[in-house]
Amino acid sequence: MEYSGPTELYIGGEWREANSGETIESVDPATEAVYATVQKADSSDVDEAVQAAAAAADRESDWRTMDPDDRRTAIHAMADAIEEMKDEIAMVESHDNGKTPFEAGLEVDMVIDTFRYYAGWTDKATGDEIPVSNSRLNYTVREPVGVTAHISPWNYPFQLAGRSIAPALAMGNSVVLKPSEQTPLSALYYARAAEEAGLSAGTVNIVPGIGSEAGAALSGHEGVNHVTFTGSTGVGRTIQRSAAAAVADVDLELGGKGPAIVFPDADLDAASRGIQYGIFMNAGQMCWANSRVVVHEDVADELVDRMSTIAERIPLGGGIDDDGQMGPVVNEEQQQEILDYIETGRREGATVVAGGGVPESKDTGYFVEPTVFADVDNNMTIAREEIFGPVLVVIEVSDEQEAIEVANDSQYGLTSCVWTNDLTRAHTVADHLDYGMVMINETPNTWPQTPFGGTKQSGHGRAQGKQAVESFTEVKNVHVNLE
Ligand code: NAD
Repeated sequence: MEYSGPTELYIGGEWREANSGETIESVDPATEAVYATVQKADSSDVDEAVQAAAAAADRESDWRTMDPDDRRTAIHAMADAIEEMKDEIAMVESHDNGKTPFEAGLEVDMVIDTFRYYAGWTDKATGDEIPVSNSRLNYTVREPVGVTAHISPWNYPFQLAGRSIAPALAMGNSVVLKPSEQTPLSALYYARAAEEAGLSAGTVNIVPGIGSEAGAALSGHEGVNHVTFTGSTGVGRTIQRSAAAAVADVDLELGGKGPAIVFPDADLDAASRGIQYGIFMNAGQMCWANSRVVVHEDVADELVDRMSTIAERIPLGGGIDDDGQMGPVVNEEQQQEILDYIETGRREGATVVAGGGVPESKDTGYFVEPTVFADVDNNMTIAREEIFGPVLVVIEVSDEQEAIEVANDSQYGLTSCVWTNDLTRAHTVADHLDYGMVMINETPNTWPQTPFGGTKQSGHGRAQGKQAVESFTEVKNVHVNLE
């Protein structure tokens, strides 16, 4: 199906070409063919977008002074528009990123839920009254932070942009969104939704562009008050440094190497199914993947057998072949990087028990076989680094204490999973895990109302939930002398 969606920048309520006239190509990872060409923003376009956003977030602007119930209606109207475009966005996302149409549909559903959830927050971000003395009134109010920048990655292009722009808008801020140059298409549909919902010019601005150019210009712009970055840890460090120029607030949602700890008392059917989703969904390109299984030696062989059987049976597909359950990875470079990691794993002494290369059945597309490694030591490269592909590593441990130590022995701290039917053990282990999120008997999962984020090099700040409301507001303290 040919692409017929938006291709221009959206700045100050207008669709327009980039100042340079240059473009970015979106390549379908399943066909390796160019699927669409969009305008490429440079620093001058980003500057105009920030200026438009600054006018829209001005203290007297329509958006900022709007009554909370009118803003709630507007955010719901954006959700309605996205719902209306769901099938189109999911198909575009599938061609742009390579994920299956089913997986892309889940992304769009999550975004609709997220907009509706934050629509409900427009009249609930309250302040406090603080007792200081009987002759004084002291209270706080929550105000918008102003211009918010959103720099998003390619693995869940629509959802990861939506999860920060929804709370930012609900709290009365304006938005400049720079999607990944690998997957620039679905983000442009937020501009369509904003138009449908009648948001005033400049409230939402979308500038697809290259990270080191448009992304750097946006994160370092002195007109930006808050930066939400979702992406790799390396770029996250750069963003934090560049945002220091404007002393902007920064939320960093970075990489992961999540453990799934499996105890002998676990339901192995449920655990293996949960681990399957946690590593092979989205072809393993998930920050929160449970890419590192930490399993008790009593059930290790059985779990390895189950995971390799599962891996060998997953049908591969993509945007053009919706019978498949796992698509290609996003591009050739990513495919090569994953294959290199698999080679490193073999060289360092781990054993490939399933997959381990490019599938013979696919001569086109950037596919990697669902792969399982056994005999892994937590010091091996494949256990320490984020592979960001469908590669599971299994590490054996002999008791609960060792399981906790191995799970925590990582530079990352995003998502962890614990599989056990012992209630006391579940809570004790959860208490000891140095992770932003702990799932008990659950595949990595999230909801708009739950805080999402990590410790250590997985970043700081929390997306979603009431934490995002706090992040997108400033607290003002007002003190009144009543004497
Ligand atoms: P990336 O860091 O390469 O790029 C992310 C975004 O940053 C893109 O829009 C890119 O254009 C932009 N960018 C690149 N260089 C920049 C610079 N110098 N200045 C400003 N912007 C710049 O990440 P990616 O490869 O797109 O995504 C994969 C990574 O994202 C993985 O590490 C994954 O774990 C992480 N991720 C984290 C979460 C989370 O919530 N914690 C969610 C999804 C992905």
